[in-house]
Amino acid sequence: MAMEENTVRAHCPVCKAPFLWRSDSPWRPFCSERCRLIDLGAWLDEGYRIAEETESSAPFLHPEEQ
Ligand SMILES: [Zn+2]
Repeated sequence: MAMEENTVRAHCPVCKAPFLWRSDSPWRPFCSERCRLIDLGAWLDEGYRIAEETESSAPFLHPEEQ
């Protein structure tokens, strides 16, 4: 029987667990909604840190024309 053409073995990038990646999986490339949200949260966390650093830097000042 060869019914696996819609299924790919993959490793979840978050929990590193092997899982069957189906072509209709809504959580690709993650194994589940939970891992997808964890990855999204990590991204937001980094974004916040970058935003804070940018905000603390001095704003650009226009040189006065003479
Ligand atoms: Zn996972």
